[in-house]
Amino acid sequence: MHDIERLLKGFKRFQQRYFDAEPALFDDLRRGQHPGTLLIGCSDSRVDPGLLLGCRPGDLFTVRNVANLVPRCDADPCGAGSVHGVSAAIQFAVEQLKVARIIVMGHAGCGGIRALMACPCEDESRPAHVGPDEQTDFIGPWMHIAMAARNEVERSLPDADPAQRQRACEQAAVLISLRNLQTFPFVRHAMENGLLTLHGWYFDLEAGALLAYSERADDFLPMVCSIQSASAA
Ligand SMILES: [Zn+2]
Repeated sequence: MHDIERLLKGFKRFQQRYFDAEPALFDDLRRGQHPGTLLIGCSDSRVDPGLLLGCRPGDLFTVRNVANLVPRCDADPCGAGSVHGVSAAIQFAVEQLKVARIIVMGHAGCGGIRALMACPCEDESRPAHVGPDEQTDFIGPWMHIAMAARNEVERSLPDADPAQRQRACEQAAVLISLRNLQTFPFVRHAMENGLLTLHGWYFDLEAGALLAYSERADDFLPMVCSIQSASAA
């Protein structure tokens, strides 16, 4: 079956599931959205947050980009006139929608993080250019947001195997995004007033498990174990 046909069949299933079976849901959603969660995830086709978390329409306000990164509030990598889609979405979610939580969800096997780990750039102060042409390379400067995660992995796991280093970098990058979120005054303000919490999650695509960052353990711990490990326990 062609891709487009599959997509149209998918939309018909969606129509039946929601418009036919639950008319009250869309009656409500036509009046507006009230999601409780902003989820910042990766654009990777394998890690659709709504699908992974079993969400219904209206549940999640979602930002997806390469490697689920959040820039600092003051970051302006492209100079004057640059636009900030991620920052605008965060502002809208916090100020207008008044979400109660922001989840940054990283994942195993992230191509953006793999590119960051492989790029030859060593200087944290310079953007990493992983593409062939610096003028039209958007991935390198974007991934530079997570350069401190790579540097940390280089320092703490110099002799680890590449898979272990990649996983450590994926998780460290989630923490950078959580720190960067707190550079936005409206995020800090909502947190200080007890209206907003931040969460770092990690979808282990290899094992099929969901982990969350624990500040107490300073590590990502399983929230939902893989089916194999759950049935073995
Ligand atoms: Zn990714």
